[in-house]
Amino acid sequence: MNTAPTFRGGIHLPDHKRETHHPIETCTLPDQLVLPLSQHAGTPAQPCVAVGDRVAKGQCVATAEGEVSAPVHASTSGSVVAIEPRPHPSGRALPAFVIEPDGEERWATDLTPLEPRQWSPENLKQHIRDAGIVGMGGGTFPTHVKLTLMEQHSCDTLIINGCECEPWLSGDDRLMVEQGDKVLDGADILRQALGVQRTLIGIEANKPEAIALLRHASRKFDAMEVICVPSTYPQGAEKQLIDVLLGRQVPSGGHPANIGVVVDNVATAAAVSDAVRYGRPLVERVVTVAGPALATPKNLWVRLGTPLRTLVDQCGGSREEIGKIIVGGPMMGQSQLNLDTPVVKGTTGLLLFGSQDVSLREAGPCIRCGRCIAVCPLHLLPATITAYAERGRFDGALTYGALECMECGCCTYVCPAARPLVQMLRYAKAEIITRQKECLT
Ligand code: SF4
Ligand code: SF4
Repeated sequence: MNTAPTFRGGIHLPDHKRETHHPIETCTLPDQLVLPLSQHAGTPAQPCVAVGDRVAKGQCVATAEGEVSAPVHASTSGSVVAIEPRPHPSGRALPAFVIEPDGEERWATDLTPLEPRQWSPENLKQHIRDAGIVGMGGGTFPTHVKLTLMEQHSCDTLIINGCECEPWLSGDDRLMVEQGDKVLDGADILRQALGVQRTLIGIEANKPEAIALLRHASRKFDAMEVICVPSTYPQGAEKQLIDVLLGRQVPSGGHPANIGVVVDNVATAAAVSDAVRYGRPLVERVVTVAGPALATPKNLWVRLGTPLRTLVDQCGGSREEIGKIIVGGPMMGQSQLNLDTPVVKGTTGLLLFGSQDVSLREAGPCIRCGRCIAVCPLHLLPATITAYAERGRFDGALTYGALECMECGCCTYVCPAARPLVQMLRYAKAEIITRQKECLT
């Protein structure tokens, strides 16, 4: 299979994809669903139903607040029994709806199905906004905002990201294999909403079945091409995918729109098709449940708001004492305190590790080997930035590009001194942003 050239830096990880490449099953309905008002990048949504109200599946329960925000919809029919702080994947307790299902799965009819070719780009963008669609690869940036940003730039290419480069995760792969037509239909609707001619679909070489199926199915679309890209982590990062597919570099501090590109994930494209063709807002997603401590790895269709515990139960529970719970992939995912956290729009995976899988090695001093620099896909100097951050010299960390860091974790993975580089980079970024805000107020 012809494969596009790779980007500079990055690492090759054991991908564990074979362990999880199973057909998608439907996750059971839990006793309670917990739907946070904040499931997207931007301002939390504002409740538009009250405690005691009965809601239908797909009914809007919280509206988008401000420009960068997204509405939240009930993921089943039932009653709202509370709106209160509940555990959130970010680690904090954040306001959320608690819905007790009635088991009827009654759909709301708020969102009218559209025939995409009969509607203007503005209508399609509004529909995508009303359906609460956000980047489902984990970024959770509201999709309609990405589409609107392009109005200020000259855009020529839509890229659909089917890389799924984190180990274990295979939900996007299964979605492409099982619902490839829907992914391509959503991609074509996004292309229409953007008003561009060309769509490129980048898929990592370790997904040969998805590549073959989508290549075949894409023949009926104009100017749509499926491109096999190398399986190198983090190939799924926007900047690296654009570099490999188009040879263009996103400028420092800029975004893909600056170079005429929009990147959307394959699951986002499928959600767009559901919203436009069938009037179905974003209320469920595919989650890969895996890890060495899990009994039976699976891919599950999960209603948003389902507690992680329900997913683990459906996978036969844990087969040993759990040492670490991660939501997302092992490189960029977030550790969880327990399994009470709900699945949200950006939940790509749930990984369980045993105590012996968790490294407790103490960090040593930097030996100046340069490995972190060699693997950084953004050509940063992780050892230098973190040395400044450790000394409270955030001006120096900023000068060396701390805010550019995408927190991919490559530097931490290769560091022989076990230095917590990505953790220090996150800390430095948070400090710099806080100080910048304080200067503005
Ligand atoms: S975490 Fe940041 S500094 Fe480290 S390799 Fe990734 S982008 Fe570079
Ligand atoms: S990889 Fe670790 S030890 Fe090597 S230069 Fe970077 S921080 Fe220092």
